[in-house]
Amino acid sequence: MITVLSGGTGTPKLLQGLKEIVDPKDLTIIVNTLENNYFSGVYVSADVDTVLYTMADMINDEFWYGVKGDTFITNQRLEELGCPELLRIGDIDRATKIQKTQLMEKYGLSKAVEIQAGNMGIESRIIPMSDEQSDIKIITDIGELEFHDFLIKHHAQPEVLDLKFSNVSPAEGIIDSIRNSQAVIIGPSNPITSISPILSLEGVRDALKETYVVAVSPIIGSDSVSGPASKFMNALDIDVSSVGVASLYEDFLDNIVIDCKDYDKKSQLNQIVNKVTVTNTIMNNLGDKKNLAQIIIDSIP
Ligand code: GDP
Repeated sequence: MITVLSGGTGTPKLLQGLKEIVDPKDLTIIVNTLENNYFSGVYVSADVDTVLYTMADMINDEFWYGVKGDTFITNQRLEELGCPELLRIGDIDRATKIQKTQLMEKYGLSKAVEIQAGNMGIESRIIPMSDEQSDIKIITDIGELEFHDFLIKHHAQPEVLDLKFSNVSPAEGIIDSIRNSQAVIIGPSNPITSISPILSLEGVRDALKETYVVAVSPIIGSDSVSGPASKFMNALDIDVSSVGVASLYEDFLDNIVIDCKDYDKKSQLNQIVNKVTVTNTIMNNLGDKKNLAQIIIDSIP
């Protein structure tokens, strides 16, 4: 069994490769829920849905959000009615979210996701990190912002000064899944807004110390491959580099996978982590994704 910690862009790319080379039944994916909230009357668990769609081969992998080829009839009608959506939700995607909202209100989020994964024919186990609602605020130079206001309304432009999020309890099965895994893979996700929330769950860091952990750096050189990760790392005074990423995971990390472009950081990284794997970590196509997945799997003792 392999457990993967995931956000909603970088790690799903790796999952596309992993599911081709590992039996999907042997994969458990623990997914960030930090920015979950209600939008347009439905509960949006964006990273969880991205992982669901990725594992069901339905993901719109141009944007890593929503369903490939989806239509936007409801979204357009809402605009015509003078009710534009902050998050533009496609029609098929909306159906998923309506069902998730109903199931969640009845059974809780993780059970809702388990049912939906089954409905989509997904054989891997997908666990949202918590069944509890997080509260996240981004402190910026223009004031305190809600996560999606920062990301969508303000296009992640404001300078980030700090962020704060509430503590939530881990969903059932997370600690056991980490403990019982041959290895845990931390995908190349935003270390601050996607991975840290999972690491801050009670018992997760301790469980990771007892398991072989390999992390892929989402930072190449001195910037993130995409998205605002570097902004958040800067705000928290963390060096924006694979070394900064490794330092966040230092207490439990066994192996860091860095890009060939960062070969010069290998000796510095070796002082923090036992093993440093250098390879191409840019995933532009399925070949890249499978190669990276295979290198990670081969590196597990
Ligand atoms: P979010 O939920 O949209 O923030 O997505 P994630 O947290 O999963 O991931 C965003 C991170 O993935 C960013 O920091 C990117 O630098 C990283 N990323 C995206 N694509 C790649 C890739 O092909 N290779 C690597 N190494 N990192 C990537």
